[in-house]
Amino acid sequence: MPIEMQVDDERWAAVVRRDPAVDGAFYVAVKTTGIYCRPSCSGRPLRKNVRFVTTPTEAEAAGFRACKRCKPNEWKPGSLAQGSA
Ligand SMILES: [Zn+2]
Repeated sequence: MPIEMQVDDERWAAVVRRDPAVDGAFYVAVKTTGIYCRPSCSGRPLRKNVRFVTTPTEAEAAGFRACKRCKPNEWKPGSLAQGSA
């Protein structure tokens, strides 16, 4: 299996778990809605409609808008209350 596909599978698995640990590592851009989200967002897109990007800038350059629910463009490392610090 090509590495890229494998990485996408791991990313998708994190999205399905709504794993907050991967927030900030990548973003989920949904082709059908034109919106991108943090991986832990409550939206449940179909796998085939999803494209992974690594930064909000990359998503917006591709024509996606930030989700209003999870505000992926406002997230900063350490902003989650459940941090390990
Ligand atoms: Zn969202």
